Amino acid sequence: MFDTLTSRLQGAFQKLRGKGRLSEDDVKEALREIRRALLEADVNHVVAKEFIERIRERAVGQEILQSLSAAQQVVKIVNDELTDLMGGAQAKLARAAKPPTVILLVGLQGAGKTTAAAKLARHLKASEHRRPLLVAADIYRPAAISQLQVLGEQIGVQVFTLGDQVNPREIALRALDEARRGGFDYVLIDTAGRLHIDETLMQELQDIEKSVNPDEILLVVDAMTGQDAVNVASHFREQLSLTGIIMTKLDGDTRGGAALTVRHVTGCPIKFVGIGEKVDALEPFYPDRMASRILGMGDVMTLIERAQAAIDEKDALELEAKIRRNEFTLEDFLSQLQQVRKLGPLDQLLGLIPGMGKFKQLQGATVDESQIKKIEAIIYSMSIAERRNPDLVMKSSSRRQRIARGSGTEVRDVNQLLRKFDDMRKLMKQFSSLGKNPSRALGGL
Ligand code: GDP
Repeated sequence: MFDTLTSRLQGAFQKLRGKGRLSEDDVKEALREIRRALLEADVNHVVAKEFIERIRERAVGQEILQSLSAAQQVVKIVNDELTDLMGGAQAKLARAAKPPTVILLVGLQGAGKTTAAAKLARHLKASEHRRPLLVAADIYRPAAISQLQVLGEQIGVQVFTLGDQVNPREIALRALDEARRGGFDYVLIDTAGRLHIDETLMQELQDIEKSVNPDEILLVVDAMTGQDAVNVASHFREQLSLTGIIMTKLDGDTRGGAALTVRHVTGCPIKFVGIGEKVDALEPFYPDRMASRILGMGDVMTLIERAQAAIDEKDALELEAKIRRNEFTLEDFLSQLQQVRKLGPLDQLLGLIPGMGKFKQLQGATVDESQIKKIEAIIYSMSIAERRNPDLVMKSSSRRQRIARGSGTEVRDVNQLLRKFDDMRKLMKQFSSLGKNPSRALGGL
């Protein structure tokens, strides 16, 4: 995310760090570079200019220059100002005093609206334990309704549709009745998009707004379109009472300008960001965490939250005890593998760890899905007794042949997995005995 911007900003800070006390000229030079980095990231020049001005005032006006930690303090000021630029505090999703909370999703075609509707429904269901109802009110784009139905099925959320012959206002109203009757907490209405902003679209959206009186109108914009995304947001804001923005495709090689400035230009906060095509690739937007990420300082909070969502603490403790007792089995190995997979692509995780963003050679690294599927297939082809006691398989070539046949792999794949597992178990044994008797364990290494 925003790699070029991050490395340009780090370059500017690097020069300051080497200097100890700073002169006004040092700061001036750094600010020039920061300004250039922002412009390259497609930040509107007026916003960039004001931003730099604020930093200059804070950096030069205080005693900072004379202090020994001047460089760090300048980084902190930039961090604060970036956070403010993106809205300061997190803007949370509204909740109606009396359910259901009605959320209208609007935006141009292709921005990722239908996907965002499903992602948001999944988020509400999985992270907040709510009951959302998805509503298919995009009756113009071919296949929008079936796309929503497929996604709804995937995430186990009901989709309300009346086909493509009933007008969207009517669909929204009837969906609301259905939600009240069915005890749903949220109604997420996927409205029609257009390739460009046009009056008929705006009229239709205004009609829906008037009749269902939504608690939230979220505009979905594509971060890859840069300043266009900001212009689209300004336009929608003039016509509808927008309450927030979902910015999609931040996983792409977007330069970052839209995410940095849309709040400042339109006054409308980003509430969520889309970071991939899959239904779980949506994150609540925290300006402070995003600022740290942009400055290459990592985002440990998001990492911890993701790990907490994916890994059950009780399971983790049990696992640790098993490792200590040297009872780690292939069953445990399989469940660990599946948990790690839930954390997301490796390259995204690296960006969340402070300092790791720099390791460019690791970027693009992903867990090899086909390899993991193979391992899963092999373990699934084993009997429970074999999974718990891999020695049974290690000692018997007929078992290995059976497992290879059953999993559609080769005997050498089975052997390789067993070897790796054995190595891992040995390593674990050494680590666990390290706690009890370090000298003995080190002797074994
Ligand atoms: P709509 O016309 O606005 O409803 O757009 P769709 O929801 O159909 O999305 C358009 C395309 O963008 C699809 O191919 C989605 O998979 C893709 N897409 C949506 N959100 C994201 C995202 O956050 N990251 C990436 N990489 N692709 C996305």
